[in-house]
Amino acid sequence: MVQYSPVGSIPRRRTVISYLSPAEVTRYSRQITLDGWGREAQERLKSSQVLIAGAGGLASATALYLMAGGLGAIRLVDDSRVSLADLNHQVLFRERDLGKAKATMAERRLKEINPFVMVESHVKLLSEHNVFRLAANCNVLIDASNNAGAGALLNPVAARQQIPLVHAWVGEMTGLLTTFWPGRGPCLACAVLETPSNRHPALLGPLPGITGALQALEVLRILGGLGPALLGRVLIFNGDQFRFTEKTIRSNPQCPVCSV
Ligand SMILES: [Zn+2]
Repeated sequence: MVQYSPVGSIPRRRTVISYLSPAEVTRYSRQITLDGWGREAQERLKSSQVLIAGAGGLASATALYLMAGGLGAIRLVDDSRVSLADLNHQVLFRERDLGKAKATMAERRLKEINPFVMVESHVKLLSEHNVFRLAANCNVLIDASNNAGAGALLNPVAARQQIPLVHAWVGEMTGLLTTFWPGRGPCLACAVLETPSNRHPALLGPLPGITGALQALEVLRILGGLGPALLGRVLIFNGDQFRFTEKTIRSNPQCPVCSV
């Protein structure tokens, strides 16, 4: 995998050097032939690495599509174990995974999907002591934890490294998605997102799937060079009415995280 500097920059090579094998070109041919994507975006994607906080319902969908799409590397961090109540919405897991560490089982399952993508799992709680190390060399931070604490830990990293933080949340019949990119738009501390703090909300299984798939699409857009669709916009899916709405968020000039 190609590392590039400064950390977090999206690679825009003038001379495209092929890192894709013939098998990968075939595997990703439906993307490569897409107008506006092409071989260069696919090469960019392969040169990219992301951190995913969480290995539950959102991450099941997000990581699955990023794996299938041909990212360079995924680093997963989650300290929880698979329980029976997870299986209605955490589609990476099987009954035989019950009681096992989600990050470990997710790594195993994801590697089956695409052997060309590197996956690294960390069975640990994201904390202020390890977040910078776990985010090292990542181009995008992905908050799929459904836990406000993880977002608060990732945001200063995004601000320090000026990289995007793609943030999702789900609960009951609502899914929410936005992109923070300190230096280019608001950060998480600029915005007030009204997300209840219940880490295990009631929900129907497709909600994290829908939201996680959109999260993966946004990450692919950023890493492929199309740019974020949701910078300064919060997309909200309401599963009762099958309706998408959105609201605008702006950078706060007095923000204690991104304005210093
Ligand atoms: Zn801010």
